[in-house]
Amino acid sequence: MNADLERLIALQKLDSTADAARKKLAAEPEHELALEARLEAARHKVAAAKEAVGVNKNARAALEKDVAVQQGRLSKFRETAMAVKTNQEYHAVQHEIAFAQTEIKKIEDTTLERMMESDDLAAALKTAEAQLAAETKAVDAERKTGSAAHIEMQAALEQIAAERAVLVAGLNKDVLGTFEAVSRKRNGVAMSEARAGVCTICHVRLRPQVFNNVLRNDSILQCDHCNRILYYVPIPASAATAPADPSPQAT
Ligand SMILES: [Zn+2]
Repeated sequence: MNADLERLIALQKLDSTADAARKKLAAEPEHELALEARLEAARHKVAAAKEAVGVNKNARAALEKDVAVQQGRLSKFRETAMAVKTNQEYHAVQHEIAFAQTEIKKIEDTTLERMMESDDLAAALKTAEAQLAAETKAVDAERKTGSAAHIEMQAALEQIAAERAVLVAGLNKDVLGTFEAVSRKRNGVAMSEARAGVCTICHVRLRPQVFNNVLRNDSILQCDHCNRILYYVPIPASAATAPADPSPQAT
């Protein structure tokens, strides 16, 4: 194979690998924001659950006060009932007693509801706290994996830069110029494999003469359509040794 063509294929591999690594590095801040948002959502759930527990607690405290007030009134009315002189007074105080008892019953019912609600809220808080702990653990693990990958990608990029410099130093300047120009125009992909008469990247059929020349891999040829530099990967020997085609004319 033409030595420059061989170098260009290696150069393209390095460039594509570096490109993928740079894209991943560029996506890191966004990924970190997504992780932080996951934690924030879990924290928010815990805060909301705590808030609900607090509201319930305050409501129960208020109900306790209310019931104490009503019980105070009730005992006062009962004392009054002992001392009443007239039937009319007696009925009036009985009415007050009945009213206070109804109020106490209402407050006790509400208290019972609030107490049951309190059990549910405590359970919900526990669940939210467990979810936050799990999210924190998962996000920590992802961050660790991410920073290890970051270090790996940085090292790979340095390695690639060094290998690239060696390849570039050995390349014909015009050939390198063509490669760089096509790479800039074609989103970092300047090389294309030609297979079965077609440029495998733009899928346009090559002129038979061009394809025949590409098969030899001995010169720098470009696709007429996308301008990428073409190369041919010979079919592996194992695939090539298919059973011989029995020719009907060979009789
Ligand atoms: Zn093409």
